[in-house]
Amino acid sequence: MFAGSFALGAVAARNSWASVPAAAAALQRTATPGTMPHLPPLRVHMNQLTDIKVCLRPFRAAGPRLDVEKIGDKTVIHHYGHGGSGWSLSWGSADIVVGKAASTLEKRVAVIGCGVIGLTTALTAQRAGMDVTIYTKDLLPHTRSVRANGSWTPDSRIALTKPAGPGFASLWEQMARYSWKTYRDYLGLPGNPIDFRDSYTLSDTPFDQTPEPPAPPAGSPDYASTGKPQNSAEFAEYGELIKDIIPNADVLDASENPFPVAHAKRKNLMIFNFGAYGHLLLSEFFQAGGKIVVREFHTPAEFKTLSEPVVINCPGYGARALCQDESLIPIRGQTNWLPPQANSLYGVRYKGAALLCKTDGIMVQALDFTGLGDMVGVNNSFEHPDRSEAEKAIGIFEDLFARMKGQPA
Ligand SMILES: Cc1cc2nc3c(=O)[nH]c(=O)nc-3n(C[C@H](O)[C@H](O)[C@H](O)COP(=O)(O)OP(=O)(O)OC[C@H]3O[C@@H](n4cnc5c(N)ncnc54)[C@H](O)[C@@H]3O)c2cc1C
Repeated sequence: MFAGSFALGAVAARNSWASVPAAAAALQRTATPGTMPHLPPLRVHMNQLTDIKVCLRPFRAAGPRLDVEKIGDKTVIHHYGHGGSGWSLSWGSADIVVGKAASTLEKRVAVIGCGVIGLTTALTAQRAGMDVTIYTKDLLPHTRSVRANGSWTPDSRIALTKPAGPGFASLWEQMARYSWKTYRDYLGLPGNPIDFRDSYTLSDTPFDQTPEPPAPPAGSPDYASTGKPQNSAEFAEYGELIKDIIPNADVLDASENPFPVAHAKRKNLMIFNFGAYGHLLLSEFFQAGGKIVVREFHTPAEFKTLSEPVVINCPGYGARALCQDESLIPIRGQTNWLPPQANSLYGVRYKGAALLCKTDGIMVQALDFTGLGDMVGVNNSFEHPDRSEAEKAIGIFEDLFARMKGQPA
């Protein structure tokens, strides 16, 4: 009997072992190297559009504000200005400011704001044993945070290299590594709050022949001379610092490239499914005894009316008005949403636009149609949908998938 059940167990174990890659392939989360993945062409047309969301990245040339000040008898720890990287850096950045709160030895903490930065800060403070109340104008599902793209982009418009300096580069590395590790704890949960996707970058010319944008001529206006970012080359890129833990992109050969475009790269991209993840974070916060008070502040002096001795200030772009902080500038971005499609679990970048299949829909975003790079949207605070931008981005993928349908499966 023992031998029989052992043999049965071994068969079952082998079957379940074999079924793991099969299940992954069926879900098309990751393709098997050396084979042609069968990616379904997507139904991407303007007549499928369900929503256009516009958001302002809260950008500071020197990187996020993390300093501490005294306002009356309150210790106020600022925590805003995460540019295009707030989702990605949230846990690591929260860990740094909660460390500052812990050094006061106070147990009761107020967090201002309930975007991704406020909510992860609140949870991190709870995990450090603090009693937390969030005071906020809006809750996570209605904040700017949920108007983002929602993928791992930890150095997207996070700072300018020179004003931020080398000190910020190492702080950034600390934040990015801590966040990456924390996000791994949220993988494989019901509803896939955090997930991975194969993301393909396509090009009509070989990647090694894609021209780099020309460096600005010496003496051109820059941040130092104007107080505002002036060209894409000024934006910091820190990805090299963490390349040992982030899946690399592979250039595909023709036998692995399912697209009707000559050149393709593929990387395994971490993504944030806003609905499932936001719901989970709010539930965790309430389960740990957190409280939320809906309240708008007009000046930091109003923090003096709170009962908590420590205030962590996470108002995102709202800090420009609340703290009169003009070092915080808007970088406009728009995402366009279509219904989710069954079995469609990949992302594509092509001709300056991005598409990403998520549980809450297919996200299409115009990245750069003009060659301006990271300067696209800088200082643009127009927070209203631009339908023509949506049409152009969606048109790129409509054309791509129309060409793909003609290909053998
Ligand atoms: C198009 C686009 C795509 C993006 N894609 C990504 C991505 O793929 N990956 C990534 O990591 N990041 C991305 N980002 C960046 C990311 O969305 C932001 O960095 C992040 O949302 C900032 O979060 P936050 O909590 O600081 O701000 P918010 O989400 O704006 O939250 C601020 C909170 O403070 C409250 N508040 C503000 N003012 C007051 C006040 N006066 N009184 C009381 N409460 C107040 C608000 O109600 C809100 O609850 C993207 C941004 C854009 C625009």
